[in-house]
Amino acid sequence: MWASGTVQSTSGEESIVSLSNGNVIKVCTSQLLPANPGILEGVNDLIQLSYLNEPSVLHNLKRRYSHDMIYSKAGPVLIAVNPFKDVQIYGKDFVTSYREKATDSPHVFAMADNAYNEMMNDGLNQSIIISGESGAGKTETAKFAMQYLASLGGGYGGKECKILRTHCILEAFGNAKTSRNDNSSRFVSSSSPLSFALCSLLKGKLIDIHFTASGKISGANIQTFLLEKSRVVQLAAGERSYHIFYQLCAGASPALRERLNLKMANEYNYLVQSDCLVINGVDDGQKFQKLKEAFDIVQICKEEQEQVFAMLAAVLWLGNISFQVIDKENHVEALADEALTSAATLIGCAPHELMQAISTYRIQVGKDRIAKKLTLQQAIGTRDALAKFIYASLFDWLVEQINKSLEAGKKHIGRSISILDIYGFESLKKNSFEQFCINYANERLQQHFNRHLLKLEQEEYDLEGIDWSKVVFEDNQECLDLFEKIELELGLTKKPLGILSLLDEESNAPNSTDFTLANKLKQHLNSNSYFKGDRGRAFGVLHFAGEVHYDTNGFLDKNRDPLSSEVVQLLSSCDSQLPQLFAKKMFNQPLQSVTSLDTTMQSVALQFKGQLFKLMHQLESTRPHFICCIKPNSKQLPGTYEEDLVLQQLRCCGIFEVIRISRSGYPTRMTHQAFSERYGFLLSEPIVSQDSLSISVALLKQFNVLPQMYQIGYTKLFLRTGQISALEDRRKQV
Ligand code: ATP
Ligand code: MG
Repeated sequence: MWASGTVQSTSGEESIVSLSNGNVIKVCTSQLLPANPGILEGVNDLIQLSYLNEPSVLHNLKRRYSHDMIYSKAGPVLIAVNPFKDVQIYGKDFVTSYREKATDSPHVFAMADNAYNEMMNDGLNQSIIISGESGAGKTETAKFAMQYLASLGGGYGGKECKILRTHCILEAFGNAKTSRNDNSSRFVSSSSPLSFALCSLLKGKLIDIHFTASGKISGANIQTFLLEKSRVVQLAAGERSYHIFYQLCAGASPALRERLNLKMANEYNYLVQSDCLVINGVDDGQKFQKLKEAFDIVQICKEEQEQVFAMLAAVLWLGNISFQVIDKENHVEALADEALTSAATLIGCAPHELMQAISTYRIQVGKDRIAKKLTLQQAIGTRDALAKFIYASLFDWLVEQINKSLEAGKKHIGRSISILDIYGFESLKKNSFEQFCINYANERLQQHFNRHLLKLEQEEYDLEGIDWSKVVFEDNQECLDLFEKIELELGLTKKPLGILSLLDEESNAPNSTDFTLANKLKQHLNSNSYFKGDRGRAFGVLHFAGEVHYDTNGFLDKNRDPLSSEVVQLLSSCDSQLPQLFAKKMFNQPLQSVTSLDTTMQSVALQFKGQLFKLMHQLESTRPHFICCIKPNSKQLPGTYEEDLVLQQLRCCGIFEVIRISRSGYPTRMTHQAFSERYGFLLSEPIVSQDSLSISVALLKQFNVLPQMYQIGYTKLFLRTGQISALEDRRKQV
């Protein structure tokens, strides 16, 4: 990608450069980028670099990484590069040293400490927003932040913070082995014995930690975003479903197996389809025991635990139900076999009721409702939708139970620190509805981030009496409008103009398909400069982090996420408590549409938008701290730094946005004193007053630094990009 070297000569378009490895090459002059002077080698904060170009940033991070300095700053943002090995920087001595401010090297502890102090001193709620791609270290970083906060605000839940212990439940139900974060990992962090193959299929998680007025942890609350439901019924080769299924099959006691009629994992269709049942080095059975302990910790009683396991077993048995064709029109009926009986028993209904619910639908004919048979494809869809619904509802229910236990029945009134662990911006080879949602969320977070950054900069400029009007900033509001815009027309009818509204309109339209959706988007949005109408089913969006192309294949179905009304009826009439609860929640949702075939809740995109707005609203009232996690290589190896991979993530994390914002202002800031001390000796003529401000001004004059290249603040000198390097060059020449 880039190599460092020294320019030997330049003639017009071409330059002769000698590289640090001794080679001499000819390059196009316009492709050269200036490198930073030696004093800036490996600086703590990237903003201190005089030249803020991409290779300089990459080089600086790489140098730090090779010395196990995994944390760096980019202005207010903390960058954490995953070490994929144990680095000895999290012990008690480190907690103390950050607590006592004995060190100022960047660290997640320093950030957590900052947040805690600002909460205690200013009475402001805080948030720590952690983003990055899968395997970048978000969850580990969140845990270290919590560990630090727990050590300051200890006393809650005994020696080990209860919040940290509940993680095991979320991990069992929300994580799986995927091809992106697989067991090729040769390293397991001792801090997290569950750690490898822990790709979270939950795209986001917000943990609010509550504190009393004296700064002790008093409780916590967890919110989750976008669980990948399809994984319950469909797996790609080599991937696994959620860990909990394998843990249950491997770890259940003989008595429990008997009660649930539980088989081994290899006997369930949902699990065997991907040809991957175990993860090297992971003992699922042992994990199951740990999970039960965690259930005990959050006070999920034995009876409830039994019900949770019954629901899981029901999901597995549902996948084994098969159908037989019963007429010439290919209508089917579920086979009355062990799978059907077991699933029905576990859910708490009669086998024939379950059979009916997944093999038929009712239509209204005059006053009567008439049962019609389903085709094979429809029946499988209905069965799978039931399995996904049970799993997702179970997950939500568990989060609710964990929250009850963490709050310990108390209503929270004090202050809080919220930790958001969220998937970063994604641009895969094929981007679907899931990427669409997460990128939309990231676009919102980016705006939050930009505005916060702006505010911080503005505060500093004001404090120094610097003219703010000379700084130009970009905003991504227009891209957000592309997603969200709703225009009110005369006569109170809303004319949908953003992608989300158009998507919903099409989801509710009869006979719509992914093609008609793509066409509709193109028809309405082609004139928008952030939208790219691609061929066929595809479309592109110009996100802040780059252009992403989405394939609308499956968009409508994933957005509607339909559940047949027969199935909802069935669950609500079941004997068991959990299915009844799940169905009730469905009925309590605002209904979007009830067609003859399906009950559709509010669409997934709309629900997500609601959740996102609530989240943003909550974050708005906090003082944010940003952490950007970077995966340095895709093999999960220590000591390996792949430049292109890092670069791509830095772009997605908005690091270059920080840099751009800084660069559009005056990124180099030095106190008058530091400036005059470093360069004062370069003055050719002595000046009358020897105060540092006068020396600084005289220096600027002598070196012809143009007025638009600097501003003089009360205590600091503000310089545009590149100015310090010029002075450093002069300094070297002397
Ligand atoms: P996902 O989005 O899939 O949940 P993630 O970003 O949360 O991924 P983690 O599970 O936090 O990623 O980290 C992946 C692995 O990287 C961990 O299991 C651990 O082995 C290693 N790791 C991350 N951060 C650190 C760290 N600070 N020190 C040591 N190892 C780490
Ligand atoms: Mg994670």
